Amino acid sequence: MAIDRELRVQKIKEGIVIDHLRAGTALKILEMLGITGKEGYIITVAMNVPSQKLGTKDIIKIEGRYLSPSEVSKIALIAPKVTLNVIKDYQVVRKERLILPEEIVGIIKCSNPTCITNHEPQVQSKFLVLSREPLKIKCKYCETIMNQEEVFRRLS
Ligand SMILES: [Zn+2]
Repeated sequence: MAIDRELRVQKIKEGIVIDHLRAGTALKILEMLGITGKEGYIITVAMNVPSQKLGTKDIIKIEGRYLSPSEVSKIALIAPKVTLNVIKDYQVVRKERLILPEEIVGIIKCSNPTCITNHEPQVQSKFLVLSREPLKIKCKYCETIMNQEEVFRRLS
């Protein structure tokens, strides 16, 4: 299995491999990254691949595209066990296990329409992570609690 994954990773010349995505989340991640397939990147999506860690997993490989820090944070919100590989010249130059921080600032909107963060543009949203799996976050301003599904909906 490990060798198999190594081979897949090395097929990319420059770009990223997002590995250990929970099965069924790959398309959501692409949508969230604003990737439709029309940008010209070479993209490989593998879904429901057998995985020792997760049972089954999804993998996304994107050639010629890297991720911004806020994109990385969003992925950590959807996929808590994800591994991000950065590839340069066929080599993995960085392998990062994404970890959701205790506090999430500014990357997702509160689901409460009357929350101050939805009315005052200068007030950044702030959530406390109550639980990672299943995901549960609480708005620091209005105490609204959002679960994985609501977070999903608000990220795209
Ligand atoms: Zn709120």
